[in-house]
Amino acid sequence: MGVVMIKCPESGRAIATGMEADREKFRRSPVFFARTFCSICKASHEWFAREAWIHEPDERCHAPRAAPALLPA
Ligand SMILES: [Zn+2]
Repeated sequence: MGVVMIKCPESGRAIATGMEADREKFRRSPVFFARTFCSICKASHEWFAREAWIHEPDERCHAPRAAPALLPA
């Protein structure tokens, strides 16, 4: 899992949308439209999924987390 990031169209800086997603699932998900409040501009930005990316800061540093207990019996 990672944080969904977008590029602020005003400042050009990456901002976190507050959404979390799996990178592969996000890439395969149908195009959607969302709105995120930007703390830099103090305004909402509208964005499409294809403009967003997943930021996974711990990807190379940590071993995969234990799978949650959702496996079929
Ligand atoms: Zn902004």
